[in-house]
Amino acid sequence: MVALVCCSLSAANAQQDFSKVAITSEPLAPNVHVLFGAGGNMALLTGADGAVLVDDQFAPLAPKIRAAIALLTDKPVRFLINTHWHSDHTGGNEAFGKTGSVIIAHDNTLKRLSSKQFVDFFKMDVPPSPQSALPVVTFAHNVSLHLNGEHVSAVHVSNAHTDTDTLLFFANANVVHTGDLYMNPWYPFVDLSSAGSVDGYLTACRIVLERTNEATKVIPGHGPVASRGDYQAWCSMLTTVRERVWQALRKRRTLQQTLDAKPTAEFDTKYGTGFIKGDVLITTLYTDLARKRSR
Ligand SMILES: [Zn+2]
Repeated sequence: MVALVCCSLSAANAQQDFSKVAITSEPLAPNVHVLFGAGGNMALLTGADGAVLVDDQFAPLAPKIRAAIALLTDKPVRFLINTHWHSDHTGGNEAFGKTGSVIIAHDNTLKRLSSKQFVDFFKMDVPPSPQSALPVVTFAHNVSLHLNGEHVSAVHVSNAHTDTDTLLFFANANVVHTGDLYMNPWYPFVDLSSAGSVDGYLTACRIVLERTNEATKVIPGHGPVASRGDYQAWCSMLTTVRERVWQALRKRRTLQQTLDAKPTAEFDTKYGTGFIKGDVLITTLYTDLARKRSR
């Protein structure tokens, strides 16, 4: 799982062999499932009105994703919502768009999918997506869908993992899909080259914790389904590390001095096991917050 997370975004360009990937599902409510495979976790709402799919991993997996969905519903995917633009969450857009799914995403997801992108962390060029892969309905702040006896709220969070992020709340099922605003249990990947910033993550924490309760199931962008308590602890960790790096900047510590102070030390065993190690997180936060401080 760690290896998949490590390489899931860069795999979009790397011609990864998807033949061994199996799409599995886990019920979270009578009509809401999480689907796992390679790349970002998916959510599926089913019912008589047609299915709603959240994210679609990589293009070569689209037939397997369709097969997994067919085990859960005989209705087509009527709406497809992207949590953000990254290719390990939007790779199936073309396949689903071509067969009539209405793709919904934030305005900036359309902008970034329409033009050439560069993800600096992975030194990865991403070409523009074909027309049929692009969102048809976009929104600036939020949009809600009402079908299958459910209310699905898509809420944009500005400048967090990227500048395209959307939280998805399933009100009756009491489920939230965070996209990559949470990777369970790993440190966040703040994609600075897509206008990400740590403070957006903390905004997402406030929004999610306000709108949920102890029983809410949290689908992270990667990793297993979490409880609200798991997510809350992760948010506390990020708040603490952010504050420590901010104080270091205020005291005019250099990046090396900040790294040497080990502001993530007590969290590394739990959260530093993915591709973002403590030092990577500190370096990213230092760069991010130094820009903010100089503004
Ligand atoms: Zn992502």
